[in-house]
Amino acid sequence: MATCTTQISTAPVQRLLETVSLYLHIPFCHTRCHYCDFNTYAGILPLREPYVQALQIEIEQAGKLARLPGGTARHARTIFFGGGTPSLLSATQTSHLLHACRSAFALDEDAEVTLEANPGTLTLEHLSELRTAGINRLSIVTQSFDSALLKTLGRIHSPEEIHQALHAARAAGFTSINLDFMFGLPGQTMQHWRETLDQALALHPEHLSLYSLIIEEGTPFYTWTQEGSITPGDEDLCADMYEYADERLQAAGYENYEISNWALPGHQCRHNLTYWHNLPYLGMGAGAYSSFGGRRFSNVLAPLEYIRLLKARLRPEAESETIERVQEMTETAFLELRTAMGIHLPSFEQRFSESLAQFVGDRLRPVEAAGLLEQTAEWLRLSKRGRLLGNEVFSRLLPD
Ligand code: SF4
Repeated sequence: MATCTTQISTAPVQRLLETVSLYLHIPFCHTRCHYCDFNTYAGILPLREPYVQALQIEIEQAGKLARLPGGTARHARTIFFGGGTPSLLSATQTSHLLHACRSAFALDEDAEVTLEANPGTLTLEHLSELRTAGINRLSIVTQSFDSALLKTLGRIHSPEEIHQALHAARAAGFTSINLDFMFGLPGQTMQHWRETLDQALALHPEHLSLYSLIIEEGTPFYTWTQEGSITPGDEDLCADMYEYADERLQAAGYENYEISNWALPGHQCRHNLTYWHNLPYLGMGAGAYSSFGGRRFSNVLAPLEYIRLLKARLRPEAESETIERVQEMTETAFLELRTAMGIHLPSFEQRFSESLAQFVGDRLRPVEAAGLLEQTAEWLRLSKRGRLLGNEVFSRLLPD
């Protein structure tokens, strides 16, 4: 059973840059939640089988694209089935996709293989089959334990179904489980938030992701906020909720290893660490993003068009940009500062043949003087105060 035990921040950076993480986008949902702007669709479940077939072709294409000089398959460290609702695929479909990944890439023996799931779409039988197929980590999208708030969000599951999903996952043998929650929701009080965290901790998940609500254009929440029929939590309440959660979770033994993520020892999410260390990843599926080989590229959004292109054995890429060196350096520093460990200065220098100090010059001096950063011989990280005022620091990383 693989868990997220590897600390990748100090592993030799050149070796990590030769590996890849794989993201598979599954764009199916029963209904659309009121806050969601992801590339997902309700009412297209009959497309699941042709979509899975198309995805298998893209995985094969990506494996060829990513081959090492000499033609050997590239090492893949993690796979993440995201969405959408990947738990709407059958275990057989999921297994076919995993098989395609194993054929196209050299999948590490202890690879972390995560599947995102929604309560209400999980049975013990389905979860046991997923576990047998090779899924070793579950991320259960829960958002709240309050039934009125779940309704406001447009979620179709009840708080009881979160409990059922967790218990079924444990019975199926999952020992690495993430639960996601949101704060700053319309009508959410500190009391709601405390109760949600109480219930979450009582379930002993290995990992928790807590995000403040962001109102995205084009969603019902955006319209309702404009009309004034809902009011999201204000900045002060969100800051209080964040601080309360951080204290509560750290007291319960969880490490806040990234601004929005807490884990028990050995359960940091290796897939997300790939993003936060700005390491290569290949995203496959409709609308999926990749950062690989000095380019950032994304696929066509519409599942039907995606299926059509792959059936014709064409690449589904819609957009592409070259990642300039300065952009990669800025992004690496920015993303690593979001993690609790911060930037490993020798790895940064090894990766870019230029030290962070040379790269940023005097730009960080004012935020250092204001106590927003902490530096040791090898690490630069945000201080506790800096975590609350991260944007002040991040904006100074941008070149003049
Ligand atoms: S289930 Fe997830 S992906 Fe689907 S609409 Fe809701 S938030 Fe979006």
